[in-house]
Amino acid sequence: MSSSPVSARLQEFYRESFVWDAHAGIFPDPKVNLSVLEDWRSNGVNYLSVNVGFDVMDPAHVMATLAAYRRYVLAHNDRLILAGRLVDIAHARDEDKLAVSFDIEGMKALSGDLDMVDVYHALGVRQMLFAYNLNNVAAGGCHDNDSGLTEFGRAIVRRMNDLGIIVDCSHVGYRTSMDIISESSKPVVFSHSNPTVIWAHERNITDDQIKACARTGGAVGINGMGIFLGENDTRTETMLRHVCHVAELVGTEHIGFGLDFTPQIDVDVTEILASRPDYWPAGNLYDTPGIGHAGPPQLLDMVNALADRGFSEPEIRGMLGENFLRVASQVWKNS
Ligand SMILES: [Zn+2]
Repeated sequence: MSSSPVSARLQEFYRESFVWDAHAGIFPDPKVNLSVLEDWRSNGVNYLSVNVGFDVMDPAHVMATLAAYRRYVLAHNDRLILAGRLVDIAHARDEDKLAVSFDIEGMKALSGDLDMVDVYHALGVRQMLFAYNLNNVAAGGCHDNDSGLTEFGRAIVRRMNDLGIIVDCSHVGYRTSMDIISESSKPVVFSHSNPTVIWAHERNITDDQIKACARTGGAVGINGMGIFLGENDTRTETMLRHVCHVAELVGTEHIGFGLDFTPQIDVDVTEILASRPDYWPAGNLYDTPGIGHAGPPQLLDMVNALADRGFSEPEIRGMLGENFLRVASQVWKNS
């Protein structure tokens, strides 16, 4: 799918680069077998944020998933490292392991209790999103009549800043994202959101949002899901168009990848998805049969396309991972 074969030189460049994937699309459930993480490690990814829940689930389900995933990662320390600090990421890289921490998509997981942010942080959550498509007690969703960030939501931003959790604006509406950005004293990210100028979808983000994120020193993770890139279009050249737009708007130093890659899992999730179809409203392509994903195996092809387009090696290294690492170094506490 690339414009040219990948040279040995570029393969070596990719292998030596630090690769950060800001969001996995693994369906969060305690029964999921996380051996699927090998899809990332074996394709050169060094760090992955794995979500343990979204607003559709009740908080007990999120906690059970977090417990199961922590146990899995800790029990497989020959390949995985539970990364709470930057030094853990450095160790993982040195030892050819995948560094993993967790994210939660939506503040319903707090059950209205601000102190739960501290608990999640203690258990390995290093990135949190405020809503999952629909409004909740903290924030407004991208598929809802966005009511903005509430007082509770503002208190959460401040607590996340204090503790060292990355503030993530994906899945919220425009107004809420701007509220979060003005409240946060630290860089913020859109971990897995594409520019709406290239593909108009309510999950995607406007140039205003991208610029506001960049002004905080943050980064936008390009999402590899076909319905957010185009009409179920996962071609590298399409992803490149999204990257080029953000690069022209704010510069490559504010670009990363949050591929949202959804590997095949052996857990039947149809019941939970069918229980709340309102989280994926009609007219947004969620009912597309066979939604495609540009996943970790496509990153090398992406690097090839970026090099062909004339991006420099330092720029590509930044986009592959160093930009998100910079954000983490400014947000996470290193102890
Ligand atoms: Zn998501």
